[in-house]
Amino acid sequence: MRTPLIAGNWKMHKTAAEAVDLVRTLVPLVDAVEGVEVAVAPPFTALQAVGRLLRAGAAVLLAAQNVHEEDHGAFTGEVSVPMLQDLGVSMVILGHSERRQLFGETDQAVGRKAARVLAANLVPVICVGESLAQRGAGEAFAVVERQLRAALQPIDASALALVVIAYEPVWAIGTGRTASKEQAQEMHAHIRGLLADIGGRKQADQVRILYGGSVNPANIAELMAQPDVDGALVGGASLDAETFASIVRFRV
Ligand code: PEP
Repeated sequence: MRTPLIAGNWKMHKTAAEAVDLVRTLVPLVDAVEGVEVAVAPPFTALQAVGRLLRAGAAVLLAAQNVHEEDHGAFTGEVSVPMLQDLGVSMVILGHSERRQLFGETDQAVGRKAARVLAANLVPVICVGESLAQRGAGEAFAVVERQLRAALQPIDASALALVVIAYEPVWAIGTGRTASKEQAQEMHAHIRGLLADIGGRKQADQVRILYGGSVNPANIAELMAQPDVDGALVGGASLDAETFASIVRFRV
């Protein structure tokens, strides 16, 4: 019912030439994998080159790591939705914890961006997740609820099924410390319950909820075996084509 999605977030890694090399190696490795959607999110500077390559035979979708909520204007250093569409982008990661922590992105800004992305028929991948201190204080579920409700507030309930949510506990990102399959499933089920409360059970059952945080070829299968885990947002392990392809082939 929900097609699994494995998305690679390359963060601030890879020049355009390196990005093209990676995708050239990756595409034949994942081409024949059925029933899994694959996406890569190179840095802005490599989107055009990778987009040209993928347009020729797209087994892999092109994603961006961020976007501005306005279409144009005096916003030095920012990039808009029409600019991304121009390059073949079909998915945008929003509210990654690094954007929230290092660049002051608020829950409300994530919501405005998500609404703009959806209005352009692109898929927003909305990241939520608690810090280690918040989990320690027993606040994980409340933090994720606050982030989720704020991000979805500007979105019409009828469009909810098109949204992708990525649960990324901050303590698991780039640390080598993955959430256990039980912790992931528990939070994903919580998120699906909130989605049902916001937009109804039918919509909620269609939303893909990805897990992110030190996903690798050794832990992907047990995470994907959880009923509410519909894919993964992969950072470090997406920077190598073979490793990322092994994650995409989690069923093999
Ligand atoms: C991420 O940054 O989205 C991420 C999940 O990183 P990593 O896989 O390296 O933990």
